[in-house]
Amino acid sequence: MRAALFNGNDLSVVNRPLRAIAVDEVLIKVAACGVCGTDIKIVAGHSAATPPVVLGHEFCGTILQVGKNVRNLSEDDFVAVDPNIFCGQCRFCRKGKINLCENLAALGVDIDGGFAEYCIVPAGRCYRIPAVVNPYHAALLEPLSCALYGFQKAEVKPGDAIVIVGGGMIGLLMLKLCRMSPAKHIIVVEPDEKRHRLLKKSGADRVINPQKDNVENEIIDITRGGAEIVIECVGSAAAVRQSYNYVKRGGRLVIFGVSPADQTWNVAPYDIFRKDLTITASFLNPFTFQTAVGLLTNGKIDFGDVEIKAFPLDEIQEAFNNQIQRRSLKTVIDLRL
Ligand SMILES: [Zn+2]
Ligand SMILES: [Zn+2]
Repeated sequence: MRAALFNGNDLSVVNRPLRAIAVDEVLIKVAACGVCGTDIKIVAGHSAATPPVVLGHEFCGTILQVGKNVRNLSEDDFVAVDPNIFCGQCRFCRKGKINLCENLAALGVDIDGGFAEYCIVPAGRCYRIPAVVNPYHAALLEPLSCALYGFQKAEVKPGDAIVIVGGGMIGLLMLKLCRMSPAKHIIVVEPDEKRHRLLKKSGADRVINPQKDNVENEIIDITRGGAEIVIECVGSAAAVRQSYNYVKRGGRLVIFGVSPADQTWNVAPYDIFRKDLTITASFLNPFTFQTAVGLLTNGKIDFGDVEIKAFPLDEIQEAFNNQIQRRSLKTVIDLRL
């Protein structure tokens, strides 16, 4: 089969043999697979992976073959895949913290993933979805499931003011989730003004351009002293530092963006103590994928307004460039092209 293989140095489309499926696995004909910031970091050497491996962890497709012990799934089912495979046997799994599994392996990172014509997936990681769902939207279920866990960690209460720092794809997902909560104000901080209209349409009460406005003053003014909840969706120490300044006394900072591993952030412990702050983060998507599927298939979350650019597998380099240069909000590889 044709597949985009990361060999430890670079990514190229190759012919990759396909093994036989095990009794508890299914063979999927991939329809679409999203290009994620993590894919770009892996190829750049800034995020861990287990090469040689086919990348792509945000995907959906049609089941071609099921292992003989598989129940609840059949040939021709359309499924989205949760790529994170936990062992169920380590001390973290046994306490329900499957995202912290000591033997965690992810499709598209450690095991061959979705930038390929076909992918072999454990049946338990497949979520059946109606065939009418747009495959590009089904490919967004994985990032939505991660955003859902971050949203849970934010513990939004009625009347809270929320600041979302970063209005890219992840910030937009977070905004759509926060909009369903009883928050009072939702403010998004985003420099790219081309994105402001969509952010407002998706429920932002206010979108602030940090290159034009004094964000801190505006937030303190609108929220009377800071937001109860600030969710950082950029992925840099500088963005975390700014986000911290927007939190009200007694408030909560959620670090959702993935900062480079070598960046640090200086903070005075006394300030955290005196303001009684909660600082938390969000890693992967423990037990949130089913909820993400429900929100999409019931129309509670709509991706119809998200600008998604699709590329065939052979143009994966171009697709990566599209994502790196932020030429569209989301980039997908369409295996049907
Ligand atoms: Zn991802
Ligand atoms: Zn485990």
